[in-house]
Amino acid sequence: MSVDLSGKGIRTTAIHAGEHHDTGSTSSAPDLVMSSTFRVEQELSFSANNLEGDAPYVYTRWANPTNDQLEEKLAALERAEACIAFASGMAATTGVLLGSLSSGDHLVMCDTNYPGTAEVARQTLPRFGIDMTPVDTSEPGNVASAMRDNTRMIWLETPSNPLLRIADIAAIAGTARENGALLVVDSTFATPIATRPLELGADLVVHSLTKYIGGHGDAMGGAVCGSRELLESLRAEALSHYGGVISPFNAWLILRGMATLPIRMREHAANAIAVAEYLEHHPRVEAVIYPGLESHPQHELAKKQMDNFSGMLSFRAANNKEVAARMMSRLDVIHYAVSLGHHRSLIYLLQTDDLAPTSYGLEGAQLEKYRAVAGEGVFRLSVGLEDPEDICADLDRVL
Ligand SMILES: *Cc1c(COP(=O)(O)O)cnc(C)c1O
Repeated sequence: MSVDLSGKGIRTTAIHAGEHHDTGSTSSAPDLVMSSTFRVEQELSFSANNLEGDAPYVYTRWANPTNDQLEEKLAALERAEACIAFASGMAATTGVLLGSLSSGDHLVMCDTNYPGTAEVARQTLPRFGIDMTPVDTSEPGNVASAMRDNTRMIWLETPSNPLLRIADIAAIAGTARENGALLVVDSTFATPIATRPLELGADLVVHSLTKYIGGHGDAMGGAVCGSRELLESLRAEALSHYGGVISPFNAWLILRGMATLPIRMREHAANAIAVAEYLEHHPRVEAVIYPGLESHPQHELAKKQMDNFSGMLSFRAANNKEVAARMMSRLDVIHYAVSLGHHRSLIYLLQTDDLAPTSYGLEGAQLEKYRAVAGEGVFRLSVGLEDPEDICADLDRVL
């Protein structure tokens, strides 16, 4: 049994969507089903290729009742027909790339994004005969001019790691359609509370559930949302065969986190603007990048495309290595750690020489353009849900 959500609000949807209680218990919370296999009561195909969406459960790598609830909840929030959960954001990413592209295909991707994605596109895909052109996707014209006859996919990340550039999804969707290419958007930083890329013309949305959607830093997961048609073959190939299935236990934790996503995102954004304004006025801070600040070069586009500016900001400080060393030993509330989107604030120095020439392979003018914004490096701050005064006091101690 599940709740009728037609006409209901986003908070009600986040709490009730996808949750069904159909295993005979009268539990109010979603059931956690850790079974890897299921008793089969009728003749079924043994091949994942032949299993329809409504087939009974056979094996958790194909489908599982807890994972299904996570998928339905996220699909409801993204307003997608379907969703597939994976073991991590990278499992979702490689599933989409390898499951949709073939030898001889060309891919256009943002030139700065999540380093894991960038490294797969630059190092792994060429081994399979797939070519990638990196462009600054904050200018839709750059995407249009990179298109070739064999371009099968455009991959955006918005806001992007770590410079928080915004890509105009609706504009780039036009380019994708004209060229018959799939438009994929990694919307991890935005979440469906801020942006719903499918409504703007994207074909697939990718999420790391490890970040805002799970929200508590205790479970890894990933997901892809889109049309039933596109996801059907992805489920058979990328999920069942590549095998990056999420543990039902992680799915259950992430389901619980997702229920409070709209409320958390509201508070993340409120805290982030308070911290961004504090940093903008700090004498030892050279620059602050936050889509919610008027000083962000794409603030107008961010206002148009995002219902919430999220909790991610980047800033530059003088002597960044010394500041980072102080952060490691002296931060109190904020953890000096990678990852983002948790209730705890997290900060990490992303050094330009560590990232731009290596993960992104930027050279010449592209490297100079990156350096003009990032200098020798930026601190990426995932503003958590603590009191903003305590976050600012912590930063003041180390800057
Ligand atoms: C973290 C992240 C990923 C990878 O997700 P994992 O769950 O860590 O595998 C992909 N894209 C973005 C934007 C991310 O922040």
